[in-house]
Amino acid sequence: MSAPAEAAWQQAVELLSGADEVALACHVAPDGDALGSMLALGAALRSRGTRVVASWGGEPFEVPAAYSFLPAVDLLVPPSDFPAAPPVFVTLDTGSPDRLGSLEDRVGTSGCTVVIDHHASNTRYGGLHLVDDTSAATVVLVAALLDRMGVALTQEIAAPLYTGLVTDTGSFRYLATTPSVHELAARLLATGIRHDLIARSIYDTAPFGWVGLLGRACGRAELEVDAVAGLGLVWTVVESADLSASGLGLADVEGVIDVIRTAQEAEVAVVVKADPVAGDWKVSARSKGAVDVGLVCTALGGGGHRFAAGFSSGDDLATTLGRLRAALADAPHLPA
Ligand code: MN
Repeated sequence: MSAPAEAAWQQAVELLSGADEVALACHVAPDGDALGSMLALGAALRSRGTRVVASWGGEPFEVPAAYSFLPAVDLLVPPSDFPAAPPVFVTLDTGSPDRLGSLEDRVGTSGCTVVIDHHASNTRYGGLHLVDDTSAATVVLVAALLDRMGVALTQEIAAPLYTGLVTDTGSFRYLATTPSVHELAARLLATGIRHDLIARSIYDTAPFGWVGLLGRACGRAELEVDAVAGLGLVWTVVESADLSASGLGLADVEGVIDVIRTAQEAEVAVVVKADPVAGDWKVSARSKGAVDVGLVCTALGGGGHRFAAGFSSGDDLATTLGRLRAALADAPHLPA
């Protein structure tokens, strides 16, 4: 999948510049890139006089605490207040319609659906695609769109763009961190945003219950050196009881995998998290570069990127792990 054609950029510029009203949506359980790309585009459109609503199709509708500092969160409406047939519908960081949750049907009811995304697993739904899986984050594509629209970067736009950039690059550590990523970061910092406070809110702030939950999740981690065709698997589970005992929600435990995946004996790291609302398991997988976990998770009904992906499972824990082990054993290996 290569960069969007110039004609697609121009169509998007004309559509968004001419619209009186635009409805934005990102994937359920939004992360920094989903929220950041949506709120940056929303703030930019609003600054030009466009009526904007933004949402995702998940209940209960709560902005994750780590991202509640973002400007333009006042654009957010619960999915029940989202227009039934928006003339212009833009999805952000969402590889397939089911990831929109209850807003999935807007792909069919909207006048035009614009898809802005960087997932390799993107299914090419909707009518106009700004999709590039070589982009480090969806915010990179939004920034390129705003440049083409002639929108000047304000702090209200730069803060959510920076949030998506810092989260999807793992604080500028992952392979997708190109020179142009740093050039965009420099432009964003030049607006005067407090990147130190953004990083603290995202990475270094959590309720005390997080410390205990992390300890329990790490304490029960298992290493399977023979798994993944001998490349090794490390995994752990976060149970519903862990969440209730610590007063945390599913969105608060995203960071567990960043500790689990440090185990050097394992190519692949997995965290299986109970979703008390949906009543299923949310499985997150990471690889260090030798195995395409994106294809593995797509085959199991999910999606994502080569080195970071996930899927949902309605099976019990043992069955879920068994399916995953079997898929990982046959996973395509990537060139070094
Ligand atoms: Mn993303």
